[in-house]
Amino acid sequence: MMHYDGHHNRIDRIVRPKETEMLEQEVFGELLFNKQKSPWIKLIKMLLIYENGEACVSCPVTCTEGLVELLDKYADTPELKHILMHCREGIDGDIAIGAQYLSEIQGGSDVQANRLEALEEDGVWRPYGSKFFCSATHADYAVITAKPQGSEDVALFVMPSWLPGNKEKEIRNSYTIDRIKWKMGTSELTSGELTFNGAVAYPVGPLDKGISNVVGIVLTYSRLTVGLSAAAFMLRAAREATQYTEFREVFGQKVNQFPMAKRQIDEINYFAQRTTAGAFKLYRDFLKTDGATSEEKSKLEFKKKQFKIRELIMLQKLVGSMDSTDVLRKAMSMFGGYGIMEDFSSLPRLYRDSAINELWEGPRNVLMSQLFRDMQSAKAWYPPTEFVADVLEGATQTLIETFAKELSEIINHPSLFVMDDATLDICARIDRFCTEFFHTYQDLALSEVN
Ligand SMILES: Cc1cc2nc3c(=O)[nH]c(=O)nc-3n(C[C@H](O)[C@H](O)[C@H](O)COP(=O)(O)OP(=O)(O)OC[C@H]3O[C@@H](n4cnc5c(N)ncnc54)[C@H](O)[C@@H]3O)c2cc1C
Repeated sequence: MMHYDGHHNRIDRIVRPKETEMLEQEVFGELLFNKQKSPWIKLIKMLLIYENGEACVSCPVTCTEGLVELLDKYADTPELKHILMHCREGIDGDIAIGAQYLSEIQGGSDVQANRLEALEEDGVWRPYGSKFFCSATHADYAVITAKPQGSEDVALFVMPSWLPGNKEKEIRNSYTIDRIKWKMGTSELTSGELTFNGAVAYPVGPLDKGISNVVGIVLTYSRLTVGLSAAAFMLRAAREATQYTEFREVFGQKVNQFPMAKRQIDEINYFAQRTTAGAFKLYRDFLKTDGATSEEKSKLEFKKKQFKIRELIMLQKLVGSMDSTDVLRKAMSMFGGYGIMEDFSSLPRLYRDSAINELWEGPRNVLMSQLFRDMQSAKAWYPPTEFVADVLEGATQTLIETFAKELSEIINHPSLFVMDDATLDICARIDRFCTEFFHTYQDLALSEVN
């Protein structure tokens, strides 16, 4: 982080290795979010990029996708259309990179607690205040949440990091990067603490719909890709652990010749496969709801499909990211002491990055609470029995009935906010339900592939 240049001009330059910049240029040069690109080609390329584990490149890829999808729906001014084109097709060979700044010191999960204030001055919106977790700080544009002055609603804005003509001069758009965080994982990705002092920002979508747009569009895409990167990390871990145990000899035989090791390797491979199959199945169903006509959207069947996808995206995020950390730890153990050597394989780095995947884009408890609330509020038009049967299509009747009974009992509990034994028991049951239910979904996806 270089705050000043030699002439004492405040520049807040993020200094990154040349190799990272080259990799980023190549990856963004793939124009992953170009409208002409098949979503499946985009998905496969993202999977491969995530296997590489370079968070400094893969996080901006995810953030840019959220920005593009948001603008695809709402870009209605010349400035926003220009930003969309810059991200999607590039301008003069320069392809823009996106970031998303929501979290503030007093609340990350609780976006409604945002204090960043946006003032409209002479027809231009300008945020004032701070954001405390701003990854991909080198990005060209950031989606930011802020409350318009005098309102309790959270609105969404897109803020350019530099106003036109200022990038080369390194004059940032009236905000400072105060500090780069010192993190356990995604270390090669900068996460900054920012202060806004009247940066120019463009409103996106209705000012009172910021939270629903950030959750419904931006976080939906990033949660989907957390699920995909969990699969990618596990595939890599499984491949490396399998090959290492084929090669390494202990007590005169290869590691994989010991039944104890073979069982563990099989388990690692199984988790990698079920997570990948689940991620692809979910993406397929997600794409089906994406292009629906307004007539289709008005039907109850569509509402149910959309609800199912929304819940599965949260389930995948919370189950996949946690499984990924467990699988990586197990894969590292197959290497013995070499498993934790930073210069021996990339598994230690993926392990630390995986722990981050558990936290950002909605930590486990936040998602489980949201699932509980969603299921409760939908039960009148989408009973749990029907929901479970739809998600687990192809499973045995006994399995469906067992999960449906458990879900019905869970959501009959009135609230998660009472500190008593019954609520503590329900919380434990929700935790177990989410993991076992989503694993069953993944297993069905895997048997579909097989
Ligand atoms: C490396 C890294 C990079 C990040 N980059 C970004 C970024 O670029 N942009 C950005 O906006 N944010 C970013 N974040 C922030 C991240 O999104 C937040 O950390 C996350 O949303 C959680 O917020 P918090 O840290 O304030 O935790 P809190 O919200 O304070 O949560 C603390 C604990 O309370 C639990 N909890 C919260 N609500 C409930 C509830 N209703 N019921 C039960 N338990 C609950 C949580 O699960 C957690 O265990 C990043 C975080 C990390 C670690």
